[in-house]
Amino acid sequence: MNRASVLLAALLLPIPAPEVAEAADAVAVGVAKVDVTPTHPTLLAGYGHRVGEHKAVDAPLSARALAIGDADPVVLVAVENCGVPATVVAEVRRLAGEKGGFDPARLVVASTHTHNSPTLDGYAPLIWEGRDTPEEHGRTGAYTKWLTEKIVEVALEAVRDRSPAELSWGQGRATFGGNRRWMKDGKWVGFGFAEKAPVDHSMPALFARRDGKLVAVWANYACHCTSAGSENRVGGDWAGFAATDIEQAAPGATALITIGCGADVGPQPTGNLDLSRRHGRAIAAEVTRLAGSSLTPLKAAPDVVRKAIELPLETTHDRAHWEREAKREGFEGRHARRMLAQLDRDGRLPTVVPYPITTWRFGDDLAIVFLPGEVTVDYAVRLKRELDWTRLWVNGWSDDVPGYIPSRRVLAEGGYEPDFSQIYYGWPSRYTPAVEDLVIGTVEGLVGEGYRRTSATPEPDFLSVPESLLPSMRK
Ligand SMILES: [Zn+2]
Repeated sequence: MNRASVLLAALLLPIPAPEVAEAADAVAVGVAKVDVTPTHPTLLAGYGHRVGEHKAVDAPLSARALAIGDADPVVLVAVENCGVPATVVAEVRRLAGEKGGFDPARLVVASTHTHNSPTLDGYAPLIWEGRDTPEEHGRTGAYTKWLTEKIVEVALEAVRDRSPAELSWGQGRATFGGNRRWMKDGKWVGFGFAEKAPVDHSMPALFARRDGKLVAVWANYACHCTSAGSENRVGGDWAGFAATDIEQAAPGATALITIGCGADVGPQPTGNLDLSRRHGRAIAAEVTRLAGSSLTPLKAAPDVVRKAIELPLETTHDRAHWEREAKREGFEGRHARRMLAQLDRDGRLPTVVPYPITTWRFGDDLAIVFLPGEVTVDYAVRLKRELDWTRLWVNGWSDDVPGYIPSRRVLAEGGYEPDFSQIYYGWPSRYTPAVEDLVIGTVEGLVGEGYRRTSATPEPDFLSVPESLLPSMRK
């Protein structure tokens, strides 16, 4: 053990077996973990200016699975990847269905959005389209196929691993997320740290213990995995360090990390591997604190409610526009040429983006929402004010990453998330302001009236950066 890990162990050990408010009934729980570190050179996803394949591995990547329920289990796979697209999730479901063992419709695949992971076929196509060599393109395809099989493998292993455990959950806090949209006179001007803009500092966590020993921890935090910097190196960023720290502090446990509505939230401070470690340790320390606090028992596996909606795009440009744009250099030109190819092939460009939403409801004790894509923080702000935040957990980057999901405010302000990112993701235009009410209304319908906020619901205290934290975040 080196000095750093001794220090870490002293900080974190032991994670206490959770104290639950009353004795919980046993629920079938299984976990599994598989290494998904690329074994050959790959192009990385996440930053548009990288050139060539990765040069080194700072930390291995994993996919971890959690299965809950006896007869008809739900399965979550948390993948250390920038974005697992719907095409990969569909193939995972098809392969898992062939193998049997569980209903693949009850599987959710969530990405941690680490920007130091291999890009996948079907993810944000314009980041590499027209910039990669045929050999690099082939290796992206090979990694995509390999990862797809690994996700199936880890899901099935978690299902096979199931045995009775006690489930509980609680709401913690982590404070390193800062709103990253730098504004001037009401318009977006760049990336930075916007001190007065919304964040979601909640950190919900779920625990499973067997014979008093932790076997599974699942924690969620709403922040980009971009603290390690944009070098061409593989690693899991703060979410990866959080998972390995938790697993080190609770030997035998598997730790899943998922990301909330942190599309416009970045780690503060940011820019090197030590900061990734520091933010990961903050999550692990909060998990440790929470595990020793009074938690809410979850007495049965969740009900699953799903609804696929379509998010409307603004009316797209005509062919002449794309022909003009196609003469440009760079991402705009390549994007326009892709639009023209799509027009030639399909005769039209998409006018909506498919958006499948899943919720897991543990009776009246907890509703967990899974939203596809990079969801801006305003969605968490609305959901956690309009619903009872004390029983609510919201994940982004789930089951697909079709791009950013901007709020009405972010659409009005403009900038990277509502506008330029749509080029990376290969869409012909930005979203209409109707998307916000569509997503919020659908989620509220799925979780049901029982989760409405009441006069007894306390005011959420985690939707802005406390003044006292600002000095440490500015560094
Ligand atoms: Zn992002």
